[in-house]
Amino acid sequence: MTIPSSTAIGPDPGVRRYDSIRDLLPSVDNPTPLVGVDERGADGTLELFLKLEWLNPFGSIKDRAANHLLRGLAARGLLDGRKLVEPSSGNTAIALAALAGMAGTHLTVTIPDGVPQEKKVLLRMLGAEVWETPDDLCPVDHPKDGAIALARSIAASDDRFVMPDQYSNPDNVLAHYETTGPEVWRQTGGLIRTFVAGLGTGGTISGAGAFLKERNPAIRIIGVEPQPGHRIPGLKNFEEAAEPAILDWSVIDDVIRVDDGPAYDTTLRLHRRHGLLVGPSTGAVVHAATAVDGAGLTVGISPDSSLKYTSYFAEILGDDGLPTA
Ligand code: PMP
Repeated sequence: MTIPSSTAIGPDPGVRRYDSIRDLLPSVDNPTPLVGVDERGADGTLELFLKLEWLNPFGSIKDRAANHLLRGLAARGLLDGRKLVEPSSGNTAIALAALAGMAGTHLTVTIPDGVPQEKKVLLRMLGAEVWETPDDLCPVDHPKDGAIALARSIAASDDRFVMPDQYSNPDNVLAHYETTGPEVWRQTGGLIRTFVAGLGTGGTISGAGAFLKERNPAIRIIGVEPQPGHRIPGLKNFEEAAEPAILDWSVIDDVIRVDDGPAYDTTLRLHRRHGLLVGPSTGAVVHAATAVDGAGLTVGISPDSSLKYTSYFAEILGDDGLPTA
């Protein structure tokens, strides 16, 4: 679609006027912002910037993966006349639903029932069919995982469906190798010393980590893992869940475990002291960044915003606005 010429104005990125919301998808020329956060590190060397992925057009870091996954399917001729089915903790599915809707493609999402209501409602608002399964918060291939098993069986038994499969499709990694990594490198003038990202599908850390290591092998790539039985949608604990096929351990220097308590405390501090309306996986990333010795100039990924978790925080906060626990 283009703006009709009778309106006498065409697209002009200089004044942020575009033909389509798609033009706002991130790239080296249209990066998500890096914003400084005044948090103290373990040894006073931390200079922390958060990459605000919730300012993407569909609200999370998964805009990048969804766009690359759909582009790959289209290039392989797998989209023609088919419907999509995908397991998701919500963010990938929201971006997929928005992009698929614009292309006239239908999406069925299989989603763990513990994912916040806000995400499930958003998916229905976008026209997706939502099937809830009783499993953990970021499904990967694992015996207890219902969402991925259900999506796989739908895709395998009905050839009207195609499954993008963010957990094993290399296009998820490529999205971050081609966009997130180059953006961070350019935005820090190549001075980044430490990169911190949560481990979910592993797409972010594997793609951005590989790009940054190629530029400078001394950059430390730190993954963040939640506790078993955690309540941080989007992240995986690998004691209780199998590792996604695309997760590339060769680019990861360290994994820092962050429990729910410090992750949620840090998330509330980011809301209240720093004006950053981030979701809980950002709290986990910032807490991990403060634990790195000699962190130096650090970029942490902030995958999504607090607005998708108000129902979680309603349970945590008392009437006085303070945490009840
Ligand atoms: N945080 C949130 C809120 C997410 O939705 C995801 C995606 N699962 C992640 C972190 C982890 O990103 P990735 O899947 O690229 O490892």
